[in-house]
Amino acid sequence: MSSDRYPFTEIEAKWQREWEATRQFRVSEDPGRPKFYCLEMFPYPSGRIHMGHVRVYAIGDLLARYKWMRGFNVLHPMGWDAFGLPAENAAIEHGVHPAIWTSENIDNMRAQLRKMGISYDWDREVSTCDPAYYKWEQLIFIKMLERGLAYRKRSTVNWCPSCQTVLANEQVEAGRCWRCDSEVTKRDIEGWFFKITDYAEELLAWCDRLPGWPERVMTMQRNWIGKSEGAEFDLPAAGRPELRLRVFTTRPDTAFGMTYAVLAPEHPLVDTLVTDAEERAAVERFRAEVARQSEVERTAEDRPKRGLRLKAHVVNPFNGVAIPLFIADYVLMTYGTGAIMAVPGEDQRDWDFATQHGLPIIETVKRPEGWTGGAYTGDGVKINSGFLDGLTTPEAKRKAIDWLVQRGLGTAKINYRLRDWGISRQRYWGAPIPVVYCPTCGMVPEKEEHLPVVLPEDVQLSGKGGSPLAEVASFVNTTCPRCGGPARRETDTMDTFVESSWYFLRYCSPHYDSGMVERGAADYWMPVDQYIGGIEHAVLHLLYARFYTKVLRDLGLVKVDEPFQALLSQGMVIKDGAKMSKSKGNVVDPDDLIRTFGADTARLFSLFAAPPEKDLDWNDHGVEGASRFLNRVWRFVIAHAEELEMAPRAKSELEERAVAPARPGGAVGGVASPPPTSQEGKAFRRIIHQTIARVTEDIERDFHFNTAISAIMELVNALYAFEGVARDTMPAGEQAALLREAVETVLLLLGPFSPHVTEELWQRLGHGESLFKQRWPTADPAALTRQEVTVVLQVDGKVRGRLTLEIDATEDRVQGLALADDKVRPWLQGRTVERVVVVPNRLVNVVTRS
Ligand SMILES: [Zn+2]
Ligand SMILES: [Zn+2]
Repeated sequence: MSSDRYPFTEIEAKWQREWEATRQFRVSEDPGRPKFYCLEMFPYPSGRIHMGHVRVYAIGDLLARYKWMRGFNVLHPMGWDAFGLPAENAAIEHGVHPAIWTSENIDNMRAQLRKMGISYDWDREVSTCDPAYYKWEQLIFIKMLERGLAYRKRSTVNWCPSCQTVLANEQVEAGRCWRCDSEVTKRDIEGWFFKITDYAEELLAWCDRLPGWPERVMTMQRNWIGKSEGAEFDLPAAGRPELRLRVFTTRPDTAFGMTYAVLAPEHPLVDTLVTDAEERAAVERFRAEVARQSEVERTAEDRPKRGLRLKAHVVNPFNGVAIPLFIADYVLMTYGTGAIMAVPGEDQRDWDFATQHGLPIIETVKRPEGWTGGAYTGDGVKINSGFLDGLTTPEAKRKAIDWLVQRGLGTAKINYRLRDWGISRQRYWGAPIPVVYCPTCGMVPEKEEHLPVVLPEDVQLSGKGGSPLAEVASFVNTTCPRCGGPARRETDTMDTFVESSWYFLRYCSPHYDSGMVERGAADYWMPVDQYIGGIEHAVLHLLYARFYTKVLRDLGLVKVDEPFQALLSQGMVIKDGAKMSKSKGNVVDPDDLIRTFGADTARLFSLFAAPPEKDLDWNDHGVEGASRFLNRVWRFVIAHAEELEMAPRAKSELEERAVAPARPGGAVGGVASPPPTSQEGKAFRRIIHQTIARVTEDIERDFHFNTAISAIMELVNALYAFEGVARDTMPAGEQAALLREAVETVLLLLGPFSPHVTEELWQRLGHGESLFKQRWPTADPAALTRQEVTVVLQVDGKVRGRLTLEIDATEDRVQGLALADDKVRPWLQGRTVERVVVVPNRLVNVVTRS
């Protein structure tokens, strides 16, 4: 451990105390100032922060402090996504109550976060397991229930056998539980749903109106919502026209290529169509086989598609042809109508199935030249298609739908892949669902004045055998809010993704006790201007929060349509090629890092090592490099502190020309210096102001924090070099003034990246007011102006060379340089210079004669 490190431990503690004591980052609504709501996804209180947390909070704090310095009123809050299974599992394993486990973890993590020195408004901290928090969620649940946006039904749902609870579709990834990676099974169960499908179209439409979101996330949401436009129509059973099989297709233009039809094995019409006991038995056997497969397996593209041919046929209404009917695993009851017309010529799954089962294939779109593949799914000219022949695919789609509609056989139809959000969880550590079941009145919502329905603490947790709340008699047994008779409470709890769907709103008025959010505060702060969090939430939290915000808007609680104006999805932190995790043994503990190098180094490294949206590959050399750089800045400023404090501070050209907007807090600091007159001074000042321009653009436009840091490092190198330039080459005081301007610029630019050390050095330069109350520096256009010009050298009108020299050089000087130039001199050999024509800043022509 090198001993010449700056005293970061004392400095960081000092400024964390100071910022708290002066309440520097506490904010309130101020209509006179532009607001900036900067938010990182709040953490689950697992007990320790990890490097992934350090990375995302360093990004958030950089942007928050930068916006402070740009004059914004910045809301930057922090809280806890405190309900969820790990607390309950810890309780089962170690016998500690989830409430205690959670609260201890929150205390640990808050202390760790404070050591990072992040500019949170800690007055706004919220914890979702607090009854004062989830009370409002229960109220909204009741309002959603009244409007049919929350409903209960029995259905086949995803079940995680390990977590012992239902999962929403969004929480199953490739057939596995999002939390524990167990294989998900199916269960037929009663449960609560939020009607997110009512908002499918709006959620989709806004995917095109959020340019601040990464395209990757928007694409994932579009695909998840899965809108498809097409037609729905009936295929009557051959010989039994009263039995009609409704099909959905996105390609009605291919109807003439229909060579068979398929029902989902679970389709209720199957039982009616079955003709005898033998067929019934075969159907039952087939259904049992299919039931053992997950939806993912059934719809996987690369596996054989199994089917059972029924005795019944159906009739294609387009041409009156009777075609065979199958039940097959690749058709799902939960998508479209649970039945399809099969067009193997233009659908690959149908082509696979037809090939495997020896069914005919009719092409209805003319193939491109040289086509040899299976199904052709592209557009083209219609063939083999009766009245559609010769049309293009889009024309034929429209005409086929018109034809169906005119004959009363079908309709145009839009389908979505999105399903309603299943929010019932058969676990304890969550917000109780505020309804009761009365033998007389049925299901009755709890009365508003009885909220919150508080989660009881005296509970036995085993992790087995259904909702733990069902065993708590004092909770379950209640009175009916409608008739006053005995009733039972709902014992499922809400999915914890409900709490995270509105926490950003609660931050606007966290102590408001007359509603979920105080309207004026929400109108001022919302939407979140910059949201920062991982891509793994693309179709989970980020979709739920958008939906929930729209519901709250429609309930009149907020005016915004969308919660998050812009989203930055940071990559993972990896080490030795894998995501940091305890099981892989490649974890770097932020506490160790902060103890050894300081929070400023930890933050600087995580911002420098990779652009934010890319994975960050951990390496110890990088951390040491960040530490060395901060020490280099420290040494320079400390060595020159006295001299810099004494240096002249005249108004800069920029400040004289423009009246700068008022600094937050009326600060008097900032950068100012007399314009330099020496060449060295001008060049150095240009570097200072180029750095300001580069860093500002890198932060503002593209989140290129790593290149911003590089630019600051280059400025520090130039600072050391400039210090070595002999003083007598410059007018008195010029060097000291420029060193001061450069040092102050470095501190201002570096502040949001490494706030403690810069704040300390700022103070040591004699400033009485916080660095973060200073205005972000602006590049001075005068300093940036090109000071040199390239002049073309001609001899007798022919270009012989080029000369770079200072702008507006005197004619004598230009002449002298031109005649002495190595490229010109050979052409003057043996000739006499008659005259020299100088076009200022453009051209020199030497006219000669022999
Ligand atoms: Zn699980
Ligand atoms: Zn009742």
